[in-house]
Amino acid sequence: MAEMFYDDDADLSLIQNKKVAIIGYGSQGHAHALNLRDSGVQVVVGLREGSTSWNKAAEQGLEVAPIAQAVASADIVMILTPDQVQRHVYASEIAPNLKADAALFFAHGFNIRFGYISPDASHDICMVAPKGPGHTVRRQYEEGRGVPAIVAVENDASGSAWDLALSYAKAVGATRAGVVKTTFNEETETDLFGEQAVLCGGVSQLIQYGFETLVEAGYQPEIAYFEVCHELKLIVDLINEGGLAKQRWSCSDTAEYGDYVSGPRVITPDVKDHMKDVLADIQSGAFAKRFIDDQDAGAPEFLALRAKGESHPIEATGQALRKSFGWSSRDEDYTDGSAAR
Ligand code: NDP
Ligand code: MG
Ligand code: MG
Repeated sequence: MAEMFYDDDADLSLIQNKKVAIIGYGSQGHAHALNLRDSGVQVVVGLREGSTSWNKAAEQGLEVAPIAQAVASADIVMILTPDQVQRHVYASEIAPNLKADAALFFAHGFNIRFGYISPDASHDICMVAPKGPGHTVRRQYEEGRGVPAIVAVENDASGSAWDLALSYAKAVGATRAGVVKTTFNEETETDLFGEQAVLCGGVSQLIQYGFETLVEAGYQPEIAYFEVCHELKLIVDLINEGGLAKQRWSCSDTAEYGDYVSGPRVITPDVKDHMKDVLADIQSGAFAKRFIDDQDAGAPEFLALRAKGESHPIEATGQALRKSFGWSSRDEDYTDGSAAR
């Protein structure tokens, strides 16, 4: 059984006696900075000068400084820039300014696991990875709740890295919900697999194929959107509350029977074989290399795939429908050009 930790297992005063530099003020960065601040922790946000995030952080009453300066003043440095730029920021701004005994924190193990960042042995290396988007991490904290997190220590230079990591997790609200102990390897490999095979990749492809199948058969795109996309949230909410069993209990017997007889016709055993191939590419570092090489070349493959996804007919149908109904006014969250993209 996984080891679990809650509020009573963590000592908030450890982190309250440290200064924390949050590098980046995007999805995770804003949530960590504000939650730590509201938990009584001294926070400085480190950003590029002229950064679009700078004013946002300053408007929230946070201390903001150039990255080098923020790092030089901090006992803990949490790196919350996008994964593909972390090693550049680390080499140019963080490593040269890091206090000898400062702790390095991450919210995802990518750069440590694949060797893109290799800190000196004098630093604690910890991970506090919330299992939810940054905006949820902030919203839940404000409501007195928390998003669960998984926590790991890669290097325990101080002898108290684990206690410090738990203290950080408490300050962002994670121990209110519960924290699970993991390793950088396990977090990185399972996180990449989950988002590629199921959460992002698998679900997106499933929705697009479902939409295409109905529209190509002559059904209205708006109806197809409701059936294969809109209702997904309602199903996922039930799964989140009570597992697949609650979803099957709540839907009609017709839907439940169709689930049993048709699900395995659509998601056949060879899908699992493909999942194993995806996992092997993650474990070997082949996926990481492909991603980083493309990013270093200006992201031609990434940008072409993004454009292809955005031009799929389901997007226009969905955007028009969401405007006509009351359930969603959150499109602006990602269309306003903010860092949370
Ligand atoms: P974002 O893309 O939201 O980060 C954007 C921030 O990074 C902005 O403040 C931006 O500043 C800054 N930034 C971007 N490029 C640079 C650069 N070259 N130099 C300096 N600063 C830069 O990141 P996320 O919050 O999505 O991800 C942060 C980490 O958290 C990652 O390790 C990710 O895997 C992990 N994570 C993310 C989750 C999420 O919900 N998104 C969930 C769990 C973990 P500027 O205004 O200057 O552009
Ligand atoms: Mg991820
Ligand atoms: Mg239906």
